[in-house]
Amino acid sequence: IDEVDGNFARSVKHCIFSKSNPTPLKDPLRLAAISKDVIEGILDLDMAVTQSDDFLHYASGGRLPLGSVPLAHRYGGHQFGYWAGQLGDGRAHSLGQYTNRKGEVWELQLKGSGKTPYSRSGDGRAVIRSSVREFLCSEAMHFLGVPTSRAASLVVSDEPVIRDQFYNGNVKTERGAVVLRLAKSWFRIGSLEILAQSGEIELLRKLLNFVIDEHFSSINSDDPDKYLVFYSTVVNETAHLIAQWMSVGFAHGVCNTDNFSLLSITIDYGPFGFMESYNPNFVPNTSDDEGRYSIGAQANVGLVNLEKLLMALSPVLSKKQHKEAKIILKGYVDIYQIRIHQLFKAKLGLLGEEEDDGYLIAFLLKMMEDTKSDFTMVFRQLSEVPAQQLHNRNFTQMWAFEDLSSHKLFSDWLSKYLLRLSRQQNNSDLDRQHRMKNVNPRYVLRNWMAESAISKAEINDFSEVELLYHILSFPFVTQETAEEASYAARPPLWAKRLKISCSS
Ligand code: AMP
Ligand code: MG
Ligand code: MG
Repeated sequence: IDEVDGNFARSVKHCIFSKSNPTPLKDPLRLAAISKDVIEGILDLDMAVTQSDDFLHYASGGRLPLGSVPLAHRYGGHQFGYWAGQLGDGRAHSLGQYTNRKGEVWELQLKGSGKTPYSRSGDGRAVIRSSVREFLCSEAMHFLGVPTSRAASLVVSDEPVIRDQFYNGNVKTERGAVVLRLAKSWFRIGSLEILAQSGEIELLRKLLNFVIDEHFSSINSDDPDKYLVFYSTVVNETAHLIAQWMSVGFAHGVCNTDNFSLLSITIDYGPFGFMESYNPNFVPNTSDDEGRYSIGAQANVGLVNLEKLLMALSPVLSKKQHKEAKIILKGYVDIYQIRIHQLFKAKLGLLGEEEDDGYLIAFLLKMMEDTKSDFTMVFRQLSEVPAQQLHNRNFTQMWAFEDLSSHKLFSDWLSKYLLRLSRQQNNSDLDRQHRMKNVNPRYVLRNWMAESAISKAEINDFSEVELLYHILSFPFVTQETAEEASYAARPPLWAKRLKISCSS
């Protein structure tokens, strides 16, 4: 731990954390969102306490939990392919770990809580719009079953924060917000990279041992190959994570190594997006003009980031282990491909394995691409109707199929698909629908939904954030109210004009 006092930006050496106190958000504070699931299920708190003034201060840096020594983490990273040097928690403070009733250990962190030694030229703040997005998306991803950091609460203030917003070209004053977020660990590939790059090898070993002991219980700390086993686990889990992103159409947006977790959970929600019209070139972040982190590039980006992880591990691996690690990395593509195949087979309700399954999946995706069909709803609507209705080519109330069924090969595909289903003899069609509805969400956090909730939140109306949190908590359950139906309907026309940049 770096003991130098003060949150002034500087280059920090020979440590993993710097002591850094949050700069409290100024009153008036308002609770803009709360995750009941985290408050009750992880933090063992009663929802009633979140209505107190005390809670607002704890959740925005004004008051610290007893015994907390707030820390900012020193990490580096490769950003858009280049080594960026020291990055670190420039606007986040770890408050410490909490062991809950279930015995789980969670690290609590504030984001947007002021400057740290790692703020570089930043102001240490986060604006409402990006904080609403992080809050909603972390929770939405959790409920979709994708490994992710969590969000407990979102507190907003009137404190002005200046960001230049690309869409009007003007500098616009926004307001500051703090998200209280949680993860089993916030360590990233960049946490190891900075130590390797600076030649701080003893510290690198120390951090690795710590991470392995705390989070990789299956690895024996006396195992001479433990770093290799660790690497192999991260390779495996990262492949699985990205396959899961792809199965729900999630594009992270900024897949730099500082945003890739060592626990292979989704972290650092910025200009992410859920793909609507199916398009492998979908790029959620308007600042990414080369499309480096397009949705279709993510699997390969995972591989590149794991190469960087191997570079960071090199100083603690023997020559022989390094060779083996390279072989492990080569296995990534297969692990990913096997996983994504399983996930998409489940999305189509296919049991067992038939030779043409891969073809059936690829064929559908190609037609979706050609017709710009909605990725989420094509799969959902396939799950919601009986095979007999598909057989009759009756697509009423299936808006995603209005697009898809215009493809000249669609009817052929559907025949093949229905034939494939009909061979699953001891499985009823109801059972197929049931299985498919449990993996094909009806509700994902589309940009337009977030945007609509954000514009209200910016005038202190948090009702739509709450509504979205509620709906996204049950993404696989058809909900019957009018608003809920609109979230599963064809996106409004204005949604096409939305742009999301890195500025947050
Ligand atoms: P990101 O692209 O959001 O992952 O951030 C990259 C780096 O920039 C991290 O070290 C962040 O902590 C830092 N950063 C981003 N925004 C700010 C800000 N407003 N103030 C200080 N640091 C920031
Ligand atoms: Mg980040
Ligand atoms: Mg970010």
